[in-house]
Amino acid sequence: MTAEPMIDSHGDQTAAPAPVTVRASLSPSRAADFKTCPLLYRFRSIDRLPERPTVEQARGTLVHAVLERLFDLPAAARTPESAGDLVAPQWDRLVTEEPELATLFADGDPVGPQEFLRSATALLDGYFAVEDPRRLEPAEREALISAVVDDELLIRGYLDRLDVAPDGALRVVDYKTGGAPREAFEARALFQLKFYALVLWRTRGVVPRVLRLLYLKDAEVCDYAPDADELVRFERTVVALWRAIEQATARQDFRPRPSRLCDWCNHQALCPSYGGTPPPFPVAVAVPDPLVDARSRPVAPGADE
Ligand code: SF4
Repeated sequence: MTAEPMIDSHGDQTAAPAPVTVRASLSPSRAADFKTCPLLYRFRSIDRLPERPTVEQARGTLVHAVLERLFDLPAAARTPESAGDLVAPQWDRLVTEEPELATLFADGDPVGPQEFLRSATALLDGYFAVEDPRRLEPAEREALISAVVDDELLIRGYLDRLDVAPDGALRVVDYKTGGAPREAFEARALFQLKFYALVLWRTRGVVPRVLRLLYLKDAEVCDYAPDADELVRFERTVVALWRAIEQATARQDFRPRPSRLCDWCNHQALCPSYGGTPPPFPVAVAVPDPLVDARSRPVAPGADE
């Protein structure tokens, strides 16, 4: 693996980076899984149990895809109508890439898919209620960003959108499309955004001015302004989290932590908190693929992370 450009604690580029040996990688989704419930982390990252996509997750993926493509159009053409025109072709593309998505709807049921596309368009209306994309030129969309922290831990993830102001100020934007109660997921969403803020600070030497959550269903904006001290503390949290994951892996000890988020968990049948028994711990624990691991969608809990 290659070392990232080194940024010192004041955000200055240093001339000669020391060699970095990356020992592990962590994405915001997987880190948030462990924080939410260590057993959920195990099921997803160690057992790698399959999770059937839900309609809500598929809708989130579709809306993200449309919003990404919308910015391919000339600024003046980024209208609600143009976005609506992208819905069906983007859905066809997603189904071609992931045929399992087609199984979300009963065979021959025209109402299901039609209602699904209509509901995706309604979420886009929520987007246009809070932003005018004709006035924006994002610097990045669906961009993989990464940084090395603590000299050996690669943290990486895909951010939905990054805006850069003429004065260099950064704004990280995350689209939320789920219908789940916001209070149950807001801490998790903010954790993800701080993760991106930390990567950007470590790689660009700039603390993002704004971390923005766009709740499309409710047409609401939630802005958060991080500062450097907070990101230093957050970095310590991420490293401590990784150490806890390593310890739990060595001990093969991932405990369930029941919460409201269990309602969105795919693995209740295997969870001791619900009378289930986890499968035997894998003999050889696969090293997570950082690229796959960094993808934050589709995944539950949090239908649209
Ligand atoms: S059901 Fe709840 S406690 Fe059990 S693994 Fe899932 S999130 Fe964890």
